[in-house]
Amino acid sequence: MFNKEIIHKFNSTPTPFYYYDLEVLKQTLQLVKTESEKYNFIVHYALKANANNEILNVIKSFHIGADCVSGNEVKKAVECKFDSKDIVFAGVGKSDQEINYALDHSIFCFNCESLQEMEVINQLAFAKNKTANIALRINPNVNANTHKYITTGLEENKFGINVWELDAVAEALKTLPNLKLIGLHFHIGSQITDLSAFKSLCLKVNEIQHWFSSHHINIENINVGGGLGVDYHEPDTHRFADFKTYFQLFNDFLEILPGQKVHFELGRALVAQCGTLISRVLYVKKGMNTNFAILDAGMTELLRPALYQAYHKIENLSRLEIPNIKLHMQKYDVVGPICESADCFGKAVSLPETSRGDIIALRTAGAYGEVMSSAYNLRDKVKAIYSGD
Ligand SMILES: *Cc1c(COP(=O)(O)O)cnc(C)c1O
Repeated sequence: MFNKEIIHKFNSTPTPFYYYDLEVLKQTLQLVKTESEKYNFIVHYALKANANNEILNVIKSFHIGADCVSGNEVKKAVECKFDSKDIVFAGVGKSDQEINYALDHSIFCFNCESLQEMEVINQLAFAKNKTANIALRINPNVNANTHKYITTGLEENKFGINVWELDAVAEALKTLPNLKLIGLHFHIGSQITDLSAFKSLCLKVNEIQHWFSSHHINIENINVGGGLGVDYHEPDTHRFADFKTYFQLFNDFLEILPGQKVHFELGRALVAQCGTLISRVLYVKKGMNTNFAILDAGMTELLRPALYQAYHKIENLSRLEIPNIKLHMQKYDVVGPICESADCFGKAVSLPETSRGDIIALRTAGAYGEVMSSAYNLRDKVKAIYSGD
C-alpha cells in the first residue's frame, strides 16, 4: 500500500492527515458491484462512514445509492448528485426540518423508526400535498455479536419498531393517507465478522415477511441494512471484505418474493481499507512499564479507539524502508496529544525503535475516522490527501 514514493510525499506533508488510496476504493466498489449484481441486489452507501466529497464522487460513479441518517447527509447526497430516487433516509430522531427537506427532494424512502414518526411524516407530507414512501425499520432482535455501542438490532436498543408493535402499525397505516408503505428495513449493527448473524437476520426477515403476507400487505422492497465487517488486524492480507460469501448468503437464506427488490446499505466495508491516518511522532517518553510514543494525531482525528476500544494496526513507515537491517523492536504505548487518558491508540504496541519525527500510519481508518473528527482542545480540522494528488 505504501511505496517509497508515497512515504517520501508523506515526509514532506504537514501531519496529521488522512490519506485515501482511491485505487483501493475503486477495486472495492468494483468487487461489490460484481458480487451484488449476480443476484440483482441494490447497494446503497451509508454516508455516515465517510462523507468526503472525493470519496462520494467515486462511489457515485459506480451507480451506488445513498443511505443517510441526517438531513445534512441527505443534503450532501443531493449536492453530490446522487439521484433522489436512490436516497434512503433512516434515523430515530428525524426533525421536522430534516423531513421537510427530504420531502422537497422526493427521496426514494424514509426508513421509519416509530409510530409517532410515521404520524409526523404523514402530517408534513399532507401539508405539502405529497405522498412519502416509507419502509418500516423493524427491530429483528438479532444479536450481531459486535461491540455493544454498535449493536442496533436488539429490543433493548433505541432503533426500529419492535415486532410486537406491528399490529398497531398496520392499523395506523390505514389512517395515514400521505404515506405509502414500500418496504421493510433492518440494520442489526456494524463491524459484523461472524456472518452467521446475517443468516439469523435472513431467517427473522422471512418470519416477518410471513406476517405481512398473512395480513395481505404487499412489500416491494426488503432492505437488510449494512454492517459487514472488515479486517482491522490484517489489512494487507484481507484488503476486501468477503462480499462474495456475504451476498451469496442473502441469496441462499432470504425468501425473496416475486418482484421484490433487495437493498443493502454498506458503509464500513466500502471505505475502511482505503483510508489511513498519517501522523508524526512528536516525542518518545519513558514510562513505568513501556515507553510512550506521543503522536501529533489523537482522538480528535480518530475517535474509534477511545470510543469503542477499537483496534487499528499501527505502523512506523519511517522504519519500513531500510533493507537488510534487522529492526530492533520495542513496545510503545502509542498516544495522542489530547488531555484525556482515553486518547490512546494502542497499549504495548510492538514497533521498530521509534524516534521523534517518524511517520506513523494508523491503518483501516477510512470508515468512521475523518467524519468523527472534532475540534476538541481547539484542534485544527484534519486534512485529507488522495492517491494521485
Ligand atoms: C450505520 C448504518 C449503516 C452502515 O453500517 P456499516 O457498518 O458501516 O456498514 C447502514 N444502515 C444504517 C441504518 C446505519 O445506521
